[in-house]
Amino acid sequence: MIGVVTKPHLRNLFFRVSSLTKMRIKLVFVMEGDAPKLKADTMSKRNELRYGPPKKSGAAKAGRSYFKSFLKECLEMLECLGVPWVQAAGEAEAMCAYLNANGYVDGCITNDGDVFLYGAQTVYRNFTMNAKDPYVDCYTMSSIKKKLGYDRESLIGLAVLLGCDYLPKGVPGVGKEQALKLLETLQGQSLLQRFNQWKEQFQCDDTPSLAVKKVTHCSVCRHPGSHKEHERSGCKLCGSVMYCEPHDVEFCCPCEWHHSEQEKKANMVEDNIKKKARSCEDFPFYEVIQEFLVNKNKLSKIMEWQRPNLLTFQTFAFEKMEWTRHYACKKLLALLTHYDMVKRKSGQTDLNQLQAIRIARTRIKNGIPCFEIEWQKPEYYVTEDDQPMESFVVTVEEESLFQAAYADVVAHYKMEKLEVLEKKQKSKKHKLKEKGLSTVDGEIIDLVSQMNLQSSKQDFKLDRYELNYLTKKVPKGRSC
Ligand SMILES: [Zn+2]
Ligand SMILES: [Zn+2]
Ligand SMILES: [Zn+2]
Repeated sequence: MIGVVTKPHLRNLFFRVSSLTKMRIKLVFVMEGDAPKLKADTMSKRNELRYGPPKKSGAAKAGRSYFKSFLKECLEMLECLGVPWVQAAGEAEAMCAYLNANGYVDGCITNDGDVFLYGAQTVYRNFTMNAKDPYVDCYTMSSIKKKLGYDRESLIGLAVLLGCDYLPKGVPGVGKEQALKLLETLQGQSLLQRFNQWKEQFQCDDTPSLAVKKVTHCSVCRHPGSHKEHERSGCKLCGSVMYCEPHDVEFCCPCEWHHSEQEKKANMVEDNIKKKARSCEDFPFYEVIQEFLVNKNKLSKIMEWQRPNLLTFQTFAFEKMEWTRHYACKKLLALLTHYDMVKRKSGQTDLNQLQAIRIARTRIKNGIPCFEIEWQKPEYYVTEDDQPMESFVVTVEEESLFQAAYADVVAHYKMEKLEVLEKKQKSKKHKLKEKGLSTVDGEIIDLVSQMNLQSSKQDFKLDRYELNYLTKKVPKGRSC
């Protein structure tokens, strides 16, 4: 049926993997594990509030198994594409953060900010896959620390106060501004350390600190005592035996009462939050803090990128997405050429790799110099029924990567071009000679030197791109 996409989640996944791979990003997917008990509790409580007590119907179970089959299909496709995936013990974000924190990957692609609480260092959000104008937001823990002064523990503390997946309400009544103000008063202590201190205070001292009695202050020196007294027998704090030293209204009196007043003012924000925290039975929610701080993930095997499999993908795409075999081959070809080029660039050549026959012409794609390549038709490649049987297939590849992988083909192409040019020049020369004019050999030399310059510049760019490795989690439920 026209206009109906079969299994859009698979289609989306395929095209996302495809465009990110072409941007030279090496993906690792993280498969969500079982939700931590904390989250399950939160979710069932939430559902109970919304929909009443849980019914023992099979609806929830069916939903879950449907979602699981969904994820299973995604993994099946990743395996056809040769993209590695790892299984998270619980939340996918926790595994992403673990891979990132331990240097297995350069960053995490997720829109869930929890990933920083789990220890991620670099997070990419809000991807747009428009090939002409790709866009992504990048956040790093180091810039959060530098610009805002918050570290991972501060963020976990904020999640406790303001709420997170495991604690939807946080500490009721505490707002963002208040919480941020509290962070400013910590003076070297972490927010979590402060919570522990509060907890101890809640448990042991129930008696409020003794209030300091207010005393009369002199209107001239603003110290304790009356002006009359000071006139007669001086002021101790002014160090006089008669009269006292005048001070203006802003003067900071060092007496005990003023000291305690100042402290009260400074602690107002903290006391306010503390009071609210005290009324939460489980504060500071150690289980939530542990969920973020204690890693449950392990990498059991090294993630390796495999060559996309033309045959299994054809079958998969046909059965799951109703793609014709030819369409599947055409779409996968770009990933295959990319895989082989990257391998060859790193010096790994073998006979199973694609054979580039020739460069048909140069092209510019999205502002990037490219070659149109004719490849020997790979094994299992299916051509369209109504098309003549060609022995080659065509793709457009970035000049720089292709040059690094198939240098000989490029050299051959350049030679050919040069020969054509020379021939042209010769016939021109011939004609000019006939007309009695001088030649222009210089043009050829210019062209060659330009070619060399261009390719060395692109090699540098290529190395920089190659450093990119990213993780991406399997898209959750509805977002697929
Ligand atoms: Zn005085
Ligand atoms: Zn005084
Ligand atoms: Zn005073």
